[in-house]
Amino acid sequence: MPLVPALQPFRTTIFAQMSALAVSTGAINLGQGFPDTDGPPAMLEAAQRAIRDGFNQYPPGPGIPALRQAISHGRRRDHGQVFDPEDEVLVTVGATEAVAAAVIALVQTGDEVIMLEPHYDSYPAVVAMSGARHVSVPLRTTDGRFALDLDDLAAAITPATKLILLNTPHNPTGTVLTADELAGIARLAIDHDLVVVADEVYEYLTFDGTQHLPIGTLPGMAERTITVSSSGKTFNATGWKIGWACGPAPLIAAVRAAKQFLTYVGGAPFQPAIAYALEHEMDWVAGMRDSLQHKRDRLCEGLLAAGFTVHRPQGTYFVVTDIRSVADRLDRPADGMAFCLDLPRLAGVVAVPQEVFHDDPADGTPFVRFAFCKKDDIIDAAAAGLARMSA
Ligand code: PMP
Ligand code: GLN
Repeated sequence: MPLVPALQPFRTTIFAQMSALAVSTGAINLGQGFPDTDGPPAMLEAAQRAIRDGFNQYPPGPGIPALRQAISHGRRRDHGQVFDPEDEVLVTVGATEAVAAAVIALVQTGDEVIMLEPHYDSYPAVVAMSGARHVSVPLRTTDGRFALDLDDLAAAITPATKLILLNTPHNPTGTVLTADELAGIARLAIDHDLVVVADEVYEYLTFDGTQHLPIGTLPGMAERTITVSSSGKTFNATGWKIGWACGPAPLIAAVRAAKQFLTYVGGAPFQPAIAYALEHEMDWVAGMRDSLQHKRDRLCEGLLAAGFTVHRPQGTYFVVTDIRSVADRLDRPADGMAFCLDLPRLAGVVAVPQEVFHDDPADGTPFVRFAFCKKDDIIDAAAAGLARMSA
């Protein structure tokens, strides 16, 4: 494949690969994280109305004013963050583009970007595109939770470090960083004059009363934080790809400079629909979050019954399992990738091997991620297949 060396490690995303496997085998897809039900009906109607009303040409570069205002209002209402919709809010093609544009705008060859590991698959790829180098800081399991050791983070910072790319609630582990962890990150960012890009796409999807705290709200952080989020996870509209970046005007101007040459703009008729949803559908989001918590419990119980070791998540769509006990029982190596490739045959289920979120696949080998943002009967059918496999 005529792909430049920097991008050789990033060929087909695991999500595309595993969704294709689900289609070709007819297995239940608990791999790629997308819900199998639609968002609020009035939001869907608003998008259809926008198409009928002619919102079908390029929207303004930074996003339509109504959406920027709704994003600004939502951040103030739900987190107490203050962003001027004029020059501190930028609408992007999903959180993916917001992160990409921020990285491309802010780092270059010779710079280092710190990220938590396991990391979302687009992060290392986009850092490679920028010419910079990524440096991973592990989340380690303590008492069943994946936690950040601030000494690890401090040790990863060098004179070349420019940016910390944070993600909380965290994909794939389901960890929600605590106030102490975030305060420690903030202290290091301030001491070393680093920018933080905070990917908060699961900001509303936290469970058992766990609070999501945007790092941009901590003292001294507003001026150095780009807060990224997206409507995909909040409103069950992952295919609409309406995301955003918020932050101080100089940082957002930099992100906008890069973003305008990536896609320029996107999603014209979806922008008014998401503006509507942010203003009027947060009760729907609260209900969806509660239902997702039940789905988490439903899938976790199923996985436990099937013999997996389960790391119960505090947020997101995902639960990470340790397959060692199941692999033992099946008399096969605890190799998550091989296991996932066989899982359609073994159990009629597709999942994602965690090794793809690690620099060294060996660090993630025995872990497999399952998505629970699915209808209850789908979760039950998957759990039944997994239970039969290890019976
Ligand atoms: N960041 C994280 C942590 C994700 O899990 C995802 C996938 N949902 C994204 C970014 C991508 O978001 P979007 O679809 O809005 O581009
Ligand atoms: N964020 C989704 C996941 O982690 C996938 C998004 C994608 O396919 N790029 O499963």
